[in-house]
Amino acid sequence: LSAHDLSGAVAMIAPPRLAAPDPDSHKYSRGMVAIVVGQMAGAARLSAEAALRSGAGYAALYGDASELGPAAIVHRPLADMASLDDPRIGAIVIGPGLGRDEAARARLATLIAADRHPLVVDGDALHLLDPATLPDRDCPVILTPHAGEFKAVFGEGSGSVIDRARDAARATGAVVVFKGATTVIANRHRAIVHPGGNSWLSTAGTGDVLTGAIAAMLAGEHGTPIEAAAAGVWLHAEAGRRCGTSFIADDLATALTLTRASL
Ligand code: AMP
Ligand code: MG
Repeated sequence: LSAHDLSGAVAMIAPPRLAAPDPDSHKYSRGMVAIVVGQMAGAARLSAEAALRSGAGYAALYGDASELGPAAIVHRPLADMASLDDPRIGAIVIGPGLGRDEAARARLATLIAADRHPLVVDGDALHLLDPATLPDRDCPVILTPHAGEFKAVFGEGSGSVIDRARDAARATGAVVVFKGATTVIANRHRAIVHPGGNSWLSTAGTGDVLTGAIAAMLAGEHGTPIEAAAAGVWLHAEAGRRCGTSFIADDLATALTLTRASL
């Protein structure tokens, strides 16, 4: 990163300040995260567990999912997208393990058009996303692409990772979390850089854990959408640091509990 990159509207990430639940909090006030289940339910379960261990009060999988995984994760049918009309939902996750069939494409398009809940769009959903449908929404959207997904949504682009993330945020109005060894979190006005750290994070499922952590921060209203995204990125990386070596994504999700406790 050059000095130029870090001037003005680009900052290095700092640990988030996350308040404990109010004394009179309940599971919905702490943040309810809904996750749309697709073809590979394991990825959705990782996101749900990560959301709970990041501090969400309630995580529900919508769709066909086996009952494996923590019993605290609620399973609900997804007859149609009206199933997601619950006003208590604070953030909806779509993408981890979703698949890329026409049913998945239609579900994503319906959620974006409905504009009723904050959305975190990851994984397969990024391959189905038409970025032209994103500007001028009322509810915030957070996109969490790795390099391949970024290219699928926004094309090759040019310039630094910071420039590309900022251009994508300006074009869509979304918060863009451009993941990699270094992760850049951008909105229309500013960018936050996480320098990474533990390269053992490069294992299957860690991105699904990040998606859940970010959704928990969004549903729990931990700051503005870019602040919520940055808090999720920080928690995820710190959990990864604590996990050490050759861990699996399930361990990373588990580690979020103690990571959150350290703040
Ligand atoms: P995904 O590609 O969706 O599975 O997400 C992978 C997650 O692991 C993202 O949060 C990346 O930022 C993180 N990650 C992947 N590779 C590295 C690396 N070499 N160093 C640090 N973090 C990484
Ligand atoms: Mg991923």
